[in-house]
Amino acid sequence: MAYVINDECVNCGACAAACPVEAISEGDSKMEINPEICIECGSCAAVCPVGAPNPQ
Ligand code: SF4
Ligand code: SF4
Repeated sequence: MAYVINDECVNCGACAAACPVEAISEGDSKMEINPEICIECGSCAAVCPVGAPNPQ
């Protein structure tokens, strides 16, 4: 289980800056969360302007 960033992502980078474990990195067309690192804290979802990160 981990948070996943959907296609609404506009690549603003706010989530990556807010992630305490640096689980978020730039993917091909949007930011991506490494499920091996994510601790499901929800910080990315809290700062995202478009609600792209969601728990899976
Ligand atoms: Fe990082 Fe927390 Fe978002 Fe997981 S839920 S990617 S640990 S900010
Ligand atoms: Fe994408 Fe939201 Fe992260 Fe910005 S905060 S890069 S819109 S997922």
